[in-house]
Amino acid sequence: MKNILNNLLTFFNTTEKDSFHYVRIERNDKCFCNSGKKYKACHYPEHQKKSKIAVKKISETTGEEQIKVLSVKRLRKEYYRVKSNVH
Ligand SMILES: [Zn+2]
Repeated sequence: MKNILNNLLTFFNTTEKDSFHYVRIERNDKCFCNSGKKYKACHYPEHQKKSKIAVKKISETTGEEQIKVLSVKRLRKEYYRVKSNVH
């Protein structure tokens, strides 16, 4: 019971705060699919055809990273969430 409550609380907290940002996967970065190839030599051409783009969704509360493939349109709408990748 306690666990369920905690899970619910975490769920509401994270959706309420909605604190995450995106970091774009650059063409010269390694592809997210662990192929060992660069993004541009792996999934990038396919994404480009579909007007999609791979990003890392990074939670600002837990630092947890998730790979997301979003449409360019959607990412434009959420441009304020996109932080540039600092190397
Ligand atoms: Zn790939």
